[in-house]
Amino acid sequence: MRSYTLIAPAKINLYLEIIGDRPDGYHELAMILQSIDLADQIDIKLSSPGGIRVYCNHPQVPRDKSNIAYLAAELMTTEFPTAFAKYGGVDITINKQIPVAAGLAGGSTNAAAVLVGIDLLWNLGLTQGELEELGATLGSDVPFCIGGGTAIATGRGEQLSPLPSLDGIYIVLAKYRSLEVSTPWAYKTYREKFSSSYVKDKDSLAARAAAVHSGDMVKAISHKDVKEIAQKLHNDLEKVVLPAYPKVLELREIFANAGVLGTMMSGSGPSVFAICDSKVQAEQVQSQVREIIADEDLELFVTQLTNHGIQIAS
Ligand code: ATP
Repeated sequence: MRSYTLIAPAKINLYLEIIGDRPDGYHELAMILQSIDLADQIDIKLSSPGGIRVYCNHPQVPRDKSNIAYLAAELMTTEFPTAFAKYGGVDITINKQIPVAAGLAGGSTNAAAVLVGIDLLWNLGLTQGELEELGATLGSDVPFCIGGGTAIATGRGEQLSPLPSLDGIYIVLAKYRSLEVSTPWAYKTYREKFSSSYVKDKDSLAARAAAVHSGDMVKAISHKDVKEIAQKLHNDLEKVVLPAYPKVLELREIFANAGVLGTMMSGSGPSVFAICDSKVQAEQVQSQVREIIADEDLELFVTQLTNHGIQIAS
């Protein structure tokens, strides 16, 4: 087959704890990542003239080497030069549905799709583990985006342990189109404000990361106890993003007052999600928020948690 259409889901963070600093300059994290149905569509095909080309329908997404999907393809050309010489380059078309710079891993899931797509196009037969290793060199969220579902992510976010599936739970997701939060800014500001409380020695760092495996959120997920999951949502980055972005704080408060099961900012924001007990409630909450904030800049989605990462479109 010379072309594939792939579904690349976004992710939310059900849990994000910043434990300490790492020697590589990143933070040691303990997260629980969750794929959602909101997804980009990636068309990838062999290109006879060779090279890599990226097309995208979204004006904020670059088409050059600064697109992480481009970098993913470039990585494959250097890792597999024989296949590159045999099959040529790729044309990648991104149909962007996931809000950009939203804390939803939009770029990472595109990169994950390109790794999976090139593996298929060039008949490489890579395992999920091998794809995840390649993905980790592109970005911390890329390995998770490949397999998706529900998982604990430690280290920089690239060390994954799968959790039982939570598909079928409805959420409302809100993001102001024109509001962007830089992920490096969020982590840098967190370090400036809170590094005095970081766990410093190596053994304690590892113990804290391991503790998430036996923590309350994992227990709630194992029981698929939606109410408990919604109550145990946690994101350390809210401590720096909410004070700096009053609109995000306001969304969080409106969701909480709308009677949802729980609400939290995803990743470094600025998107905020609310867990609901049914699709009907999610749609009602969406309408309620729309009535309170009559701003066309605000995008609202009703979507659900899903149990998969990159998939070939049927
Ligand atoms: P994460 O949750 O992994 O931190 P994010 O959802 O906050 O990511 P992205 O949507 O990946 O953020 O966008 C971050 C920046 O990366 C944007 O400002 C955009 O210009 C750039 N970018 C590069 N490639 C892509 C891509 N394929 N899709 C979206 N943004 C991209």
